[in-house]
Amino acid sequence: MIVPPPADQRGPKVRNRLSADAFFALLRESFEKINDDRHKKALISLPDALMSALAMFSLKDPSLLAFEARRHDENMKALFGIIIVPSDTRMREILDPVDPRELRPAFADMFRVLQRGKALEPFVFYQGHYLLSLDGTGYFSSQAIHCDSCLEKVNSKTGEITYQHQMLGAVLLHPDLREVIPLAPEPIQKQDGTTKNDCERNAAKRLLRDIRKDHPRLKLIVVEDALASNGPHIRELMDCQMHYILGVKSGDHQSLFDNVTRAFDEDKITLVSWKEGDIWCEIGFINGVPLNDSNPDLLVNFLDYSEYDLNGNRVKYFSWVTDLRITQKNAHWLTRGGRCRWKIENETFNTLKNQGYHFEHNYGHGHQNLSVVFAMLMMLAFLVDQAQQLCCALFRAVWEKVGSKRALWEQIRSHYWHFTFQSMQHLYEVILYDLAKELPAPTFDTS
Ligand SMILES: [Zn+2]
Repeated sequence: MIVPPPADQRGPKVRNRLSADAFFALLRESFEKINDDRHKKALISLPDALMSALAMFSLKDPSLLAFEARRHDENMKALFGIIIVPSDTRMREILDPVDPRELRPAFADMFRVLQRGKALEPFVFYQGHYLLSLDGTGYFSSQAIHCDSCLEKVNSKTGEITYQHQMLGAVLLHPDLREVIPLAPEPIQKQDGTTKNDCERNAAKRLLRDIRKDHPRLKLIVVEDALASNGPHIRELMDCQMHYILGVKSGDHQSLFDNVTRAFDEDKITLVSWKEGDIWCEIGFINGVPLNDSNPDLLVNFLDYSEYDLNGNRVKYFSWVTDLRITQKNAHWLTRGGRCRWKIENETFNTLKNQGYHFEHNYGHGHQNLSVVFAMLMMLAFLVDQAQQLCCALFRAVWEKVGSKRALWEQIRSHYWHFTFQSMQHLYEVILYDLAKELPAPTFDTS
């Protein structure tokens, strides 16, 4: 057991602007700026409904019903600033018509606070630029439940329709950091007033423009998989003044690989190799090759990375194109940037799906936007968690003490049920120093 120090000397120190309490207050403020078209005298305010859903995802409640049991919990007011917690039905009714785009500023507000608090400095990857990974993921699929914004997939044999929701995620990442910082994701969905399905490429176009609008001067290097290495998308990135490191595959980019092979035969490829334990590593690069036959004027810099075992068998191979000029000095670092792209899948989507967030659980689908609004709010809750992990020594100390994220979420939930806290900081200190026995018995407001 950790012995608690006197109350005035308790630590680890919390950096006030970069703590859970400050983040939740900031998000509440951000939600208050969203237009609420409903009758002014609506009993439950839109910020209350949005904060309630955010609280549900922060606490990792497995269902709306589980969350509803918290309606009279005093902690909702103190920790999340919620005045009235809506019933599950009311929450769905209030959030369904909310335009998901209205939630974008909340992500940008969080980002600015982190940036000003210098929390993003460790993410700087290359010459003042951040790495931004983009990738799509699905989180809902059903043959019965659907809404106005569902994507529709028709089975060509049976004519059966499958309804789906997907989103294009965008996260800041760094090869040496476990944390990721999500920006507002872009829903891949049926667009207003059309019957046409959306696709990842259109969503990427909207997302890149929105990121530029929200962060006009942010220096970015976009990392994506080989599907993104096409002329129109690269031109889109150039228009948005973003650099890129994009995967390429010999099967999909044949003329590029033919050019590289020719350059290799002509000794024009720069090779760098070294040994790491029992593995030989080799990097090859060439600047200024055409992307493909249909874009002969679009010149890219080609970079690849191979690992060989001691018998000379190639055991790993990755290849990219980039607009950053490759040199012997930066080549290895750029391969590390290209390789950490997977963190958007592993550290973001898989965490949301498998580490207690219930990303694929249907909290309610609605008729208009509910499913998308919930997905965006869950991403916001994830952003708050990642930000705490990055900036808050108290959060990290509690996490270390309980051993795992799952155990941490459970501890928070069970403490939350049984006691009343003044703040998230108070709750974390109680878990860290085993102070629960000093707390008064719970009181529930059942009015
Ligand atoms: Zn839907």
